[in-house]
Parts: sequence; C-alpha cells; structure tokens
Amino acid sequence: MVHYTCDCCKRPIDSENSIRYLVRLEVYASLDPIDEDMDSDRDHLLEIQEILENLDSAEDDQICDEVYHHARYDLCSECRQRFVKNPLGRQTMQPLNFSKN
Ligand SMILES: [Zn+2]
Repeated sequence: MVHYTCDCCKRPIDSENSIRYLVRLEVYASLDPIDEDMDSDRDHLLEIQEILENLDSAEDDQICDEVYHHARYDLCSECRQRFVKNPLGRQTMQPLNFSKN
C-alpha cells in the first residue's frame, strides 16, 4: 500500500478516507520575442525548450531552473483549500491602518 504525505503540512494522507490532491506547478520565463516582426506567434514553450537544450551542456542547473521550473505536490484536502484560496502564499488578513491607537 502506498502512503502519501501532504507536502504542505506533512501529514499522511489516508487514501481510503480522504482525497489526495495534486498540484502541478509550472513556472517559466515569459520571453519577449526578440524579432518582433516575425516572432509574435512563436510558441514560447518551444523557445524555452531550445534554451534548455542549449543549456544542457552547461553545468549550471540553476539557470535552467530559473528559465523553467516545474514541481508536483501532494496536498491533503485542508491544504488544498488553503492553496486554492491563496496560491502565492500572500499575506492576507493583514490589519489595515485602522488600529493605530
Ligand atoms: Zn496538508
């Protein structure tokens, strides 16, 4: 039996009693076309793929990661709810400047 753990709260996800949610995260550089006349329709993902192929020989993996990063997370239903509400981890509920006294 495979046991999954929530990547957020680290609690085990009991697949029999609760649903495991998958988050697939894809972050990639939005490249502006250099050749504006021709490239407006160009597929940026293809472009990134080319860059990644060119970087293949380079030893610095971090550059690759900055151009294209993807990850997969398992979430329990609680963390899924929180994630959907606030995927960027922004600080919500911050007190406004009302309570200065
Ligand atoms: Zn969780």
